Amino acid sequence: MAHILITEDEPRIAAFLEKGLKSHGYATTTVGDAHAALSLAISDEFDLLILDLGLPDRDGLEVLSDLRGQGANLPVLILTARDDIQDKVSGLEGGADDYMTKPFRFEELLARVRVRLRTDNNKSASQPLMMVAHNVMLDLRTRKAKVDDQWIELPSREFILAETFFQHPGQVLSRQQLLDRVWGYDYDPGSNIVDVYVGYLRKKLGNALIETVRGVGYRLAA
Ligand code: CA
Repeated sequence: MAHILITEDEPRIAAFLEKGLKSHGYATTTVGDAHAALSLAISDEFDLLILDLGLPDRDGLEVLSDLRGQGANLPVLILTARDDIQDKVSGLEGGADDYMTKPFRFEELLARVRVRLRTDNNKSASQPLMMVAHNVMLDLRTRKAKVDDQWIELPSREFILAETFFQHPGQVLSRQQLLDRVWGYDYDPGSNIVDVYVGYLRKKLGNALIETVRGVGYRLAA
């Protein structure tokens, strides 16, 4: 599980980040000032730092330059209310990996967090492997699905089918595409196995999750 250090002094925003990241399978630690952020960020216990610039004791950019000065190379995502191009340039020059201005949508932050953790090759073993759609989450490490708060075991083939839909949100997948991806060559041509397995998934993950596109195939509901 990737561990994210959140440095944010506004409790409302800190709580919003914590809640969202935790629900997507990340561990989080939150601090509200630059001093605590720096001492934790150099501890090598974190996979990513989310860093607010407007902190009560020091400027976040100073934390960043101290961090890089001490050789810490964890990815840093800067978060700030300052919608100011000069800050952005100096932040990126100071060794930040990415930058977001408040207000932001959580989905956008999440996408950037994922990219940062994925491109940080040193930590690839601990990268989160969760996919979420609607009220369903797939844990790609344990190969389990979570519906609302309930964990569900899926047999291998069903899990791969679910994963295939989650990898192509909103995209129509034909029966042939699904056969190729999920069953490879291991099926009887002309069988209705895709329809049968989609039925299994609907029963376990919810009827509305996978839509039938008449005459074409199936898709993950938008
Ligand atoms: Ca602040």
